[in-house]
Order: sequence, then structure tokens, then C-alpha cells
Amino acid sequence: MQTKLGRRIPFARADITDAEIEEVVDTLKSGWLTTGAKTVRFAEEFRGFIGCRHAVPVSSCTAALHLGLLALGIGPGDEVITTPYTFVSTVTTIMHVGARPVLVDIDDATLNLDPARVADAVTPRTKAIIPVHFAGLPCDMTALGRLAAERGVRIVEDAAHAFPAVSAGRKVGTIGDITAFSFYATKALTTGEGGMLTTEQEDLAEAVRVLTLHGMSRDAWKRYTEAGKWWYDVVVPGYKYNMSDLQSAIGLHQLRRGEALWKRRAALAHAYTERLRELPFLRLPADAPPGDQHAWHLYVVRLRPGRLRIDRAAFIAALEERGVSTSVHFIPVHTHSFYRAAFGDLRGTFPAAERGYECAVSLPLFTRMTDGDVDYVAEQIRDIGRRFS
Ligand SMILES: *Cc1c(COP(=O)(O)O)cnc(C)c1O
Repeated sequence: MQTKLGRRIPFARADITDAEIEEVVDTLKSGWLTTGAKTVRFAEEFRGFIGCRHAVPVSSCTAALHLGLLALGIGPGDEVITTPYTFVSTVTTIMHVGARPVLVDIDDATLNLDPARVADAVTPRTKAIIPVHFAGLPCDMTALGRLAAERGVRIVEDAAHAFPAVSAGRKVGTIGDITAFSFYATKALTTGEGGMLTTEQEDLAEAVRVLTLHGMSRDAWKRYTEAGKWWYDVVVPGYKYNMSDLQSAIGLHQLRRGEALWKRRAALAHAYTERLRELPFLRLPADAPPGDQHAWHLYVVRLRPGRLRIDRAAFIAALEERGVSTSVHFIPVHTHSFYRAAFGDLRGTFPAAERGYECAVSLPLFTRMTDGDVDYVAEQIRDIGRRFS
């Protein structure tokens, strides 16, 4: 669809080159479509990229979170602390293992879990904390790590936005007990659908590997290709959470461009900041502090209350009219009808998350965007500001 101004900028668009396409075609022609040699290679190369001990390919970040909690033995009677300012699956997976999600408000500046509030929420039942590196800005892993060590709780990182991010000099994926990455279609590295679980601990990696494919003691790939290896044993009631070679074919080439993709995202984010810096009605996202690296999965601006005559919904509609698609991250988990029914209406309990949500607009950010696209988005925002100030 063309707009009055003739330009249309989507919110996100996957950056797929001929290399990914040829690898998928090669996979199709090979006749081996599911988990196989390419998935093994993708996991190995991901492990090398992150510098972690173990990388287990899975069907989604949600699957990685679920299996991570299971591998840590978390279940009924346990509490898991996380943020309401996230995608629902961070919280749903806690419920899938039968544990109780305990939400803690975010820090208004970073939109990430506030370690001081997390400390106040730890009880003898607390078994884990799930920090979410919102938009790709790492949580304060030094403070959370210290707290976890002191209180004997585990850390499962939701790193859906955090490829590749660094906290206090350490790559995300090497810090917590478990880290869950997403390769969903809009994420910084995509396989269409997919995810990766990383850990430094051999026993956790092994437990997760078994749970990934029906609880079988040997995966299907080895089962069918090694001579006489038709035998398998089911040791636990596992899941169907494996990644296919079709997905890994895409991932292999995304990963090879991992650093370049990140550099482009960071350059686009900095270009937005340059062009939007002086607008009095906008609050811009913070860059990572020294020693940290922002993955720049999202560029989330916040409308300053009372500075424009239009509300957030009208601001989004005005951008859409000018051909600029945006999104909102996130509708706080506790405000969804299911969570209100299950845990009572907690609206008002997490003011920073609710304020963040009410003001947030995620601008288009994808590696195929041109500098001219950023100029165009910034100019439309400036013009909406002039019109409605
Ligand atoms: C995308 C996302 C997920 C879920 O990722 P899937 O790979 O789609 O399961 C989880 N948490 C956050 C914060 C996300 O943005």
C-alpha cells in the first residue's frame, strides 16, 4: 500500500541473503530436513560465537525457557521472579512447570528488572530469577549474580532481545545458569522460528538435550545415520522442541554475519538518537554503560506525558498514515485477562512497567533499513511534533 507521501517502512524485515536461500535449497535437495548435521554445525558455531560451553538448539526461546526451568528442577511450590515488562512466554513457562511467577517492577530508566526490588521479593521458596534484557540492553547482571549467589537462587536469562549483548565484559549466554535466545522472524538473528539454550553446566545441557526430543536417550539423527543405531530408550516424558536442518540452514548464514548485523543495528540506533535527540516530547532509549553492549533488537522511544495534544495511539496512527509502521513493547503481563483472572487484578502494582507501556513506541529497526529511511522516520516524528505540540 502506498501512502500520501509514497513511502512505506515496515516495522521489521528479515535480512535474508542468497547464502541463506542456497543453504535451504541445498538442505531440501539433500533429503534430510529435520535435526541433522546442519543443526549440529549451527549449534557448534553458535557456541563458538558466544564463547559458551554448551549450546542446545531448540524450536523457540519459549521452549528454551521451559526446558531450562525443568532442567533446574523447578516445579510446584517454587517461586520464580521475573518482570511484568516482557512477552508473555517468560511468565507462561514458569506456569508450565507448575511454579509460581512473582513479578517485580522494572527500573524506569532502563526498563529492566530492578535488582533492589528483586532482592526484596526473594523468599525461601524462590528458586530462580528470569532477567529479560529488554530491547537488547543487558540487565545489571553483576548485581543479580551477587544476589543469586547470596540467596542460593538460579538465573535463567531471557535473551530473546540480547543477541549479541555484553554485560560487564561478559557475553550474554555465558553468565546465568541458563540463557534462552530467540530466532523468531523479527529477532536480530532469525531462523524463521527457533531458539538456542546455552549453559556452562554439562549436567544441565545433557538434561535439556534429552528433554528436547521426546526424552529419548539418543537423538533421531544419530539413530538413523549411524549403522545399526536403531535402538533408543525413553528415559523421561520429554517434549518435541528440536530444531530442524531447514531452520539451521538459515541460522548458519545469519550467524556468519552476526557481528555485521549487530553493527548495522547499532549504527541505525545511533542515527535515530542523533536525529531525535532534541525533541522535547520524546524520551530516547539509554545506550549501554561502559563495559556493556546493547544488542539493539528494538529502538523504543517514550512519549513524555503532556507534551503533545495527541495520545500514544494517535501518535502511532499518525506515523502509520505517513507510511511508518511501529509496534509496542510490551503490554505488561499482569494486565492480560488471563493473568488478572489467575492472580487477581494487579494493575497499579507495577507503576514503572505500566508507565513504560503507556508511553512506549518501538520504531522500525532492521538491518536493511537505509540511512534515508531513518531520516524519513525522524522527519515524520518531528513533523507530528510540530503539528500537535
Ligand atoms: C520473542 C520473545 C520471546 C519468545 O521467543 P520465541 O522464540 O518466539 O519463543 C520471549 N521473550 C521475549 C522477551 C521475546 O521478545
